[in-house]
Amino acid sequence: MIQVRDLHKQFHSLQVLKGISLTVEKGKVVVVIGPSGSGKTTLLRCLNALEVPTSGTVQIGDVKLDFSQKPDRSRIPLLRRQTGMVFQSYNLFPHMTALQNVMEGPVTVKKEDPRKVQLKASAILAKVGLADKVDHYPAQLSGGQQQRVGIARALAMDPQVMLFDEPTSALDPELVGEVLKVMKELAQEGMTMIVVTHEMSFARDVADEVIFMDQGVIVEQGPPEQIFRQSREERTRQFLQHLQ
Ligand code: ATP
Repeated sequence: MIQVRDLHKQFHSLQVLKGISLTVEKGKVVVVIGPSGSGKTTLLRCLNALEVPTSGTVQIGDVKLDFSQKPDRSRIPLLRRQTGMVFQSYNLFPHMTALQNVMEGPVTVKKEDPRKVQLKASAILAKVGLADKVDHYPAQLSGGQQQRVGIARALAMDPQVMLFDEPTSALDPELVGEVLKVMKELAQEGMTMIVVTHEMSFARDVADEVIFMDQGVIVEQGPPEQIFRQSREERTRQFLQHLQ
């Protein structure tokens, strides 16, 4: 489903990604952990070309872009449409209700029939536990509810893959659980997901594979039991010890 080969990203003289390769099969959940500044967000943003990689290839579903060549920019939207992205800050439109926020993409970008989209958007909002909040504006919702609207909005575009960039980091601790629960349900339904998070319990419970990144490279990757209990790399152990 996702194939990344030798991905590099440089901001001026700063090399942020130094040759990342990874494969995520359909229906799998990969959790990316690592210290601040290790390149986790940049990796996610390169996957849907919110940042244009310096070199390397990204394939999601049947859309493949080779950034080592001069990339065909007209194909970037195709890659982006394969992914739904959920950010730390929810970035909802403040002047639109929850329902309107979820309908916006399918109606304006995909030109879907608004009546059908309304039914779909209502169903997705119900799925994330917000059936009674469809007509609320973001300011009338808690952070956890806003983030669940953010997830619904991404799902409404029917992505092949969901990318989560620290989706619970901005939330008060008591609201984290409701967002993780929705993500866990999505995983159980077979959604292919890459999740950058500091929530190690989510990584332990939900990930098929955990990737530990440091300084722009994948230091270690494997099933959660390996990473958390029998990590092979000293750097991984140091990072995890630091968290306790
Ligand atoms: P955190 O856990 O703190 O979010 P991260 O692992 O997600 O960190 P990135 O946000 O990917 O790390 O940043 C990696 C490095 O790239 C940092 O040194 C950051 O300052 C730099 N960087 C990220 N985006 C840009 C940009 N648009 N321009 C210049 N430098 C950038």
